[in-house]
Amino acid sequence: MLNLVLFGPPGAGKGTQSHKLIEKYGLIHLSTGDLLRGEISQGTALGLEAKKLMDEGMLVPDAVVIGMISNKLDANRDAEGFIFDGFPRTVAQAEALDDLLKSKGEAISAMIALEVDDEELEHRLLLRGRDSGRTDDANPEVIRKRIKEYNDKTDPVANFYKHQNKFTSVIGIGSKDSIFDTISSVTEAL
Ligand code: AMP
Repeated sequence: MLNLVLFGPPGAGKGTQSHKLIEKYGLIHLSTGDLLRGEISQGTALGLEAKKLMDEGMLVPDAVVIGMISNKLDANRDAEGFIFDGFPRTVAQAEALDDLLKSKGEAISAMIALEVDDEELEHRLLLRGRDSGRTDDANPEVIRKRIKEYNDKTDPVANFYKHQNKFTSVIGIGSKDSIFDTISSVTEAL
């Protein structure tokens, strides 16, 4: 199985590059942000609770997203592999993911981190907010809070994979295709 963690701050291009990887390798895309937005649009209790935190730019509790990922792994037992997009976002989530995969005789193949500076991120997120109507992208204060959450809680997850020699960093600025070419050269070398 090819199990990739696509890593990077909000607006780094994880969603865009995930879709290109899916086309190339036929992997299952697991985006906790998309799963949470699905819960919100269905009006579930979990969605209502998560929306409050998401609208403030805060992370939802680890147990919630770990439970969602666990269900998706169980529901896709025959998959060729997975792309984890926006997950794990804390070290506790990374540890839980390792345990979940281990229980299935699997492991993460690599973490690919997209590097983009804060100014460019803010610019991209505001544009996305205008185009997509995502409420958490429309407000500069919420965007800055999300970037801060990333720096405080998510950035340390990179070290978790560095210690396992699974970390690669890719510059996330340039054309979508040229960034994808660099990502492909990483995955081809696995
Ligand atoms: P995203 O679409 O990945 O930018 O996620 C949007 C929002 O959903 C984040 O700002 C968090 O509030 C929440 N979220 C998504 N994934 C996670 C996660 N793995 N852990 C905690 N919160 C998450």
